[in-house]
Amino acid sequence: VDFATRLLDWHALHGRHDLPWQHPRTPYRVWLSEIMLQQTQVSTVVGYFGRFVGALPSVRALAEAPADRVLALWAGLGYYTRARNLHRAAQLCVERHGGELPGDFAALSALPGIGRSTAGAILAQAHGQRHPILDGNVRRVWARHAGIDGDLATAAAQRQLWALSESRMPATRLADYTQALMDLGATVCTPRRARCDSCPVRGDCVARATGRVDALPKPRRARRLPLRSTRLLLLHDGAGRVLLERRPPTGIWGGLWSLPEHAGDDDVGPRIAALAGEAAPGMEALPDVEHAFTHFRLRMTPVLARVGHAAPRIGDNPDRRWFDRAERESLGLPSPIARLLERLDVAGGHGPDAPQRT
Ligand code: SF4
Repeated sequence: VDFATRLLDWHALHGRHDLPWQHPRTPYRVWLSEIMLQQTQVSTVVGYFGRFVGALPSVRALAEAPADRVLALWAGLGYYTRARNLHRAAQLCVERHGGELPGDFAALSALPGIGRSTAGAILAQAHGQRHPILDGNVRRVWARHAGIDGDLATAAAQRQLWALSESRMPATRLADYTQALMDLGATVCTPRRARCDSCPVRGDCVARATGRVDALPKPRRARRLPLRSTRLLLLHDGAGRVLLERRPPTGIWGGLWSLPEHAGDDDVGPRIAALAGEAAPGMEALPDVEHAFTHFRLRMTPVLARVGHAAPRIGDNPDRRWFDRAERESLGLPSPIARLLERLDVAGGHGPDAPQRT
């Protein structure tokens, strides 16, 4: 019995059939789930997915939403480039494709954030089209099942892996097959402690036959990420209001509201005075917070400064404002920043009157 048939039979009995994006399995919902699942576990994605489609139920609704709203719905999932690409791609769907996600491979994979595997997964699941997929889970299944040694990142290994994805596809039932393959990688052929005894394709698995399940795929050489340091200015007025700045559109946390950053080594006093419109009577450096991004780690030293009152105007900068606690919650801050504010008393109080907007 061929690979696909064994996998499909297994999936009918043991696969996941109750994921929210499967009911209904529309292109928009499948797309959103695929992007969310790229760097995040299913168990986490389920809640975010429900909130996101509840708030923005269609490509058009996503395209028309302000960037702040999209980022707020994404906040906590990390890798915000995904959210920005999603938003931009939805706008392109409105401009070019009548507000629908295109059902054609070339047009779909031309959209930002949709690579070959994601495009294939969307078309297979939403339209039953015949396209191979190759995500991290599938790479691991192929490396083990076919016994591929060596570095999977090389061009030759990539060609071999894509060829396996191509050759093992069934002629029909691509939606179920694609889901089944992803389920096998996520629930049976897991990175650690693979459940080979429950695996539907164990009969001809090379890694199992040669005792190399734990050795394949060959681990990538661990990279030591470079460390960068910065200071975060945590200005508060003692009544729960905190000064936030919108980050530039590109770079880490692009477009999100965050604490003003001070990257230089110089004294932060003058900067704080400029931001607050007055010198802060005292400053306190809080314990460092570290966060790992894809290419580096960031060590952030929060500098806490209380100012007399939240100045109503902060220059003419629309990307810098005082926010009270309730407003901050609706913004969706990057997780390390939200955690930092939660830990501090400054986040607890509610001011007697609403802060004025600039
Ligand atoms: S037998 Fe084990 S190693 Fe081989 S594909 Fe199945 S779960 Fe993965």
